[in-house]
This record gives sequence, C-alpha cells and structure tokens, in this order.
Amino acid sequence: MCGIVGYAGQRPCEEILVRSLKNLEYRGYDSAGIAVFEGDRLKTVKAQGSIDNGLVPKLEQVGQLSAVAGIGHTRWATHGEPSDINAHPIGNARVSIVHNGIIENYRRLKEFLISKGYSFESQTDTETVAKLLDYNYKGDPLEAVTATIAELEGAYSLSIIFREHKNKIYAVRKESPLIVGTGKGEMFIASDMTAILEYTREYYLPEAGEIAEVDKDGVTFYDVHGNVLEKELNTAEWDVTAAQKGGFEHFMLKEIHEQPAALKNTLTPRIVDGMPSFEECGLTDEMLRNYKNVFIVGCGSAMHAGMVGKYVIEEIARTPVIVDIASEFQYRNPLITKDDLLVIISQSGETADTLSALKLGKRIGADTLAAVNVAGSSIDREAKMSVKTLAGPEISVCSTKAYMVQCAFMYMFALRLAYARGTITADKCREYTAKLLETPQLIQECIDRKEQYQRVAANIMNAESLLYIGRGLDYALSMEGSLKLKEISYIHSESYAGGELKHGTISLIEDGMPVIAVATQTSLYPKTASNVEQVKSRGAKVVLVCRDSAEVGAEAADFLVRLPDTDDLLMPLVAVVPLQMMAYYTALDRECSIDKPRNLAKSVTVE
Ligand code: GLU
Repeated sequence: MCGIVGYAGQRPCEEILVRSLKNLEYRGYDSAGIAVFEGDRLKTVKAQGSIDNGLVPKLEQVGQLSAVAGIGHTRWATHGEPSDINAHPIGNARVSIVHNGIIENYRRLKEFLISKGYSFESQTDTETVAKLLDYNYKGDPLEAVTATIAELEGAYSLSIIFREHKNKIYAVRKESPLIVGTGKGEMFIASDMTAILEYTREYYLPEAGEIAEVDKDGVTFYDVHGNVLEKELNTAEWDVTAAQKGGFEHFMLKEIHEQPAALKNTLTPRIVDGMPSFEECGLTDEMLRNYKNVFIVGCGSAMHAGMVGKYVIEEIARTPVIVDIASEFQYRNPLITKDDLLVIISQSGETADTLSALKLGKRIGADTLAAVNVAGSSIDREAKMSVKTLAGPEISVCSTKAYMVQCAFMYMFALRLAYARGTITADKCREYTAKLLETPQLIQECIDRKEQYQRVAANIMNAESLLYIGRGLDYALSMEGSLKLKEISYIHSESYAGGELKHGTISLIEDGMPVIAVATQTSLYPKTASNVEQVKSRGAKVVLVCRDSAEVGAEAADFLVRLPDTDDLLMPLVAVVPLQMMAYYTALDRECSIDKPRNLAKSVTVE
C-alpha cells in the first residue's frame, strides 16, 4: 500500500527522496522515513505522522545532509502500530531496508533469528527481513539478498542499502509494485511512476525475484542464481502535469473534471468499424461466442463497475454474469471452469485480493481478461489478455475517473459480446457505440451543473446516516454513490435495491433522514417513484436524481437533481457524476480530508 523510493546520483538526495515520497502520499500512509549514505555511516531519519508534520521537522533538526544516495518509505502499518520505531527504514548499522507488503512467515524467521542472538525492537514483520539480510551478509550484497528472499513468504517490494557498499541500492519485488527509473547520471526507485515523473519517464519493471543493483551510473538486473538479465526500458506516457492538481482544490475534483477526456481516451482507440474491438489483446469473437459464463471480479468501485457490467451484459448479450468481491471469490471455491471467462478489474493493477482472484482463475484454466489503469502492473502482466483503461494517473484515494473508464470498458465488452453472440445486430451495436461516444459531452454537462450538487450537500452535510436507493442499473449506481459518500465524508450510508426496502430497512427511516433516490431507468421509474412515496410518508428528506425528460413535479422530492438524457442502458455513465459531486461537496462542507480519507490507502496491496 505504502510507498517506496530510492535515489542514487550526484545531487543531494534528501530533497529528492522527500519530494518523491510526497508524490506517493496519495497511496495512504501513517509514517515516513529515509536512510542515506552519510559519510561512512547509514543515517536514518523517520517519524510517525505525515511527511510535513513528522519527517520534515525531524530532518530540519538533523540539519543539512550531504548524501547523494538513499532510500525512503511511507508506511501503511500492517504489523505493529504506527510509531517512530515501527516506521521504515528499518535495520542496523550495516544494513537498512524499506519494505512494502507483508512477510507471512515472519514469526518463524524471527524465532530463528532470536536463536542466533538477534534482538528486535520494532513490532514489524519487516525487521525480520532486515535482520535476516544482516545474518546472510558475508561481504557480498547480492548473495545476501538472494539467500534472504529465498526464505521469504508473502508479498514484498524491498529497497536495501549496505553501509559497506556506498551509494548502491538493491531492490527486489514479489507481488508488490516496484520500478527502477533511469536518468542522466542518476537512478531512481519507486513504487510507481507518479513518484518520479518530474525526474524521468524512462523505467524498468523488475519481475518477481529479479534483483536490481542500482548506482548513479545505471542498473544491473540479476536472477536468483546471480546471472545478469537483459531488460527492456519502458517510457511512461503520462506527463508530470497529469499527476499535479492543476489549479483544482483537490485531486478528486480535478479527476471528476477529467472524466470526459478519460472516457474519450479509453473509448476511441478501441472503436474499429464503428464497433468496440478487443483484437488488440487477443480476444476474438469466436472466443466470446464460446464462453459459458462471465465472472467479473474486483474490489470497491471496480466491483461496482462490474455490477454495471452485469446488468448491461445480461440485458444485451443474454449471458449469465457472476459479479464477485475479490476477497470473497478467492476463498469460496467458486464454480468457475475452464469454459468461463474471468474479467478482472483494478485501477492500480496491484490490488492484492484481485490479483489472487486472477491467479485462482488461471489455475482453474479459465481465460482471464484484465482491465487495469496502470500498464505494466502485476495484474496487467499476469492476465492472459489485458485492456488498459486510459484515465491517466488517479491520485485521489476516492476513485472517480478510474471507475468511469472501468464502466466504459464494461460497455465496450458487453457490446462486443452481444454482437459476437448474435443477440444484437451489427447495426444495433454501431448505434449503441455511437451513443457511447456521445457520453463524454453529456458528462461535461453534468459536471457544469454543480450548483444542484452544492445545494444538496449543504442539506445533507449534518446527517448522521442516509440511504441510497435504486432499481436495476440505478441500484448498481446507488452502491457506488453510497461508497463515495461514506468514504470521504464519513457519513454512514447504505445502498438498497428500492424494492427491498420494505423488507426491513425502511424501519430506519425517521423524520429528516436523507434518502437519495436514483431514478434514471425509464421503465423502472414508476416503481422507484412508489418507493420514494413510501419513504417520504415516513418523514424522509428525498433527493431525486432523474433525467431532464422525467415528468416530475417539484413536490415529488425535497430536491431534484436533473441529468441530461441518453439511452437507459448508458445512463450510469452520466448519473454517477452527480453522485460523485454530491459526495465531494458534502465532504468539503464537513472539512474532511478529501483526497486522503482516514484509514484508507489508494493501492490496496495487502489482503
Ligand atoms: N508490513 C510492513 C509494516 O507493517 C510494511 C507495511 C507497508 O507496506 O507499509 O511495517
């Protein structure tokens, strides 16, 4: 979850390490630190809390460092509370490491090391790796790293420095992300490209178990037997402004505004002859015709995009779809077979639960199709077929534009599937595709109507709890709306299928409780309208989200949120915008930490 950085070059490294760590703040963290080669010693400075309030003041106390190489870390605690001692880097006078992930067999390793006379001061699993490296170190760092990783179980990315090997950094990963960036006379290590975009766009992607030896002049990659590996240099397409706020108060607001462009970027390159095509990743119509079932697996908003996909696929492709939460899927012996297709959705491509689900599907022999926003991520590489959603870097923890393009992917997939299976004609497919290509404009119109969201926000900001209701695709949307609100405003909320309310949940309604009714589906509108009546007559304050064309009088709800019209099937793309923006303005009114909500991390690389 957290962030790792490293620098080896000719400039003082302290500022570069801190800046790179700050670029990774969005991933969520509770402590931060750096370790550098200072004179002939390893100097570590680390502190609990934010970089600005913890690490930076401590560095100021220490005074100017002259080091030109070092490693840095933002920690998201998994083993041991957030504290100065548990913060990384962790090590001793000879070796210092930063670690992202979880060492599952750390207890056994710790017992072994204690039997060898080592003592431990932190509660982290990471300290066992540092001590094991020290134990295995007999003068050759590569040997020490190889011997150590042979003992590790779990997920990790590690950056390691040895006092005796001045200005060199060793890095290795398994299941947690790590890249090596190259500059002129300087090299970088980072969890992802956003950390170092301001310094370079060229990078290597180490595979699991490959060890990088980095110094200012370059990097050498070794396999676990010490053989030198040739690796391909990649160039990041993202530019540095994409990872900055660009005048917006929050990344979330910026990313909401980027949705029309993100959608266009994701859709346009995949439209061939007026229809979506997945030939680029090897998914042919013949394959699509032969799959028995489609499983869609993701976590959080990605799973909600899968829910939208389910409704759309079942409607137009008449194919059974099972949507599952990744952490449930992998442990419930799912009924997936080699005749099925497993669709895997993840923004970061590193989500640990989702990655495990993908591996499970592969073991069973199902075809796997990933939709990820980060090229070169673990899921991108691991899946048989992979489609890159092109939202650009999403920095805000609360997903907006990544969800939007995941939905876009689901629509393209549903349309091609339906066409391949003959449940819609080529003409119908082109007609839907043309409408899909019009949605960026409608989303822009939605974004421009911000006053209606601000008005609702001002009226729900003091609620203790609220409900989202909807039916069909509006229910899938309600789930996403509810998640957005609770994630960033900390108001308790739940989403309910409108018709299910009367089976229990309606008992929660009391005078003044806000209910956000999403009612964009024409055929279901009368049904949702009845549910609205039911909650209104019990005192609920109703916000009705409906189309411009819906014939609704002002008396139908306390607040009306109007949306531009499109086909029923495509309404979720448009209707999610008000849900995102109502959540945003509510959190703003409540003065919450919008881009970095408490307890959350952006890229959830632990189970
Ligand atoms: N498991 C390690 C710890 O708790 C690393 C956590 C992280 O990925 O930040 O310190």
